[in-house]
Amino acid sequence: MAAQIVLATRNRKKLDELHRILDAEGMDVEILSLDEFPDAPEVAETESSFAGNALLKARAIAEATGLPAVADDSGLCVDALNGMPGVLSARWAGGHGDDAANLDLVLAQIADVPDRRRGASFQCAAAIALPDGTERVVEGEITGSLLRERRGENGFGYDPIFVPIAHQVTTAEMTATEKDSISHRGRAMRALAPVLRDLLGL
Ligand code: IMP
Repeated sequence: MAAQIVLATRNRKKLDELHRILDAEGMDVEILSLDEFPDAPEVAETESSFAGNALLKARAIAEATGLPAVADDSGLCVDALNGMPGVLSARWAGGHGDDAANLDLVLAQIADVPDRRRGASFQCAAAIALPDGTERVVEGEITGSLLRERRGENGFGYDPIFVPIAHQVTTAEMTATEKDSISHRGRAMRALAPVLRDLLGL
């Protein structure tokens, strides 16, 4: 029987992405989502680092479900804003998950920042916690720079203004597969595969 893990999300896209990555690694794992655990707690992201928040969520979900749990946390770190919005990326403009308002606020905050200082990175931490208390965390990053106006319809969040280094297009102008191959989340999830193999004996 395939090993089971719970991904601490109700986001279908994150589930599909982890599936694609673990399949590509040839790993026989059944990935459950929080939709299968309606009573699982909503975990507030109260830590000051992506790794801290990912661990917090993985730990709480492993405890609630009794299964190995994987969680991630990610965000945009803008050089000219001293690394913010960072862990506050999803609620930068106040309301949680208002992508358009968050993006507009970042654009307004760096409106006077010249092109040579518009560097930024997307960062992601992916954590696994086992019910016995074992924990690991890995990270992924993609660096780039921020445009002054939106370009592209794909992706979500800050994608329409983020151009990865050595690319001419925003991550919102890439296909999902192109973005996965270079993205912070793709990198973190791929780094997690050998850790899962090791911890779960796959
Ligand atoms: P979370 O990791 O799902 O909590 O996402 C945090 C927030 O960071 C999102 O709401 C987005 O605003 C931003 N973010 C994280 N990853 C990406 C990405 O790949 N593209 C654009 N925005 C992202």
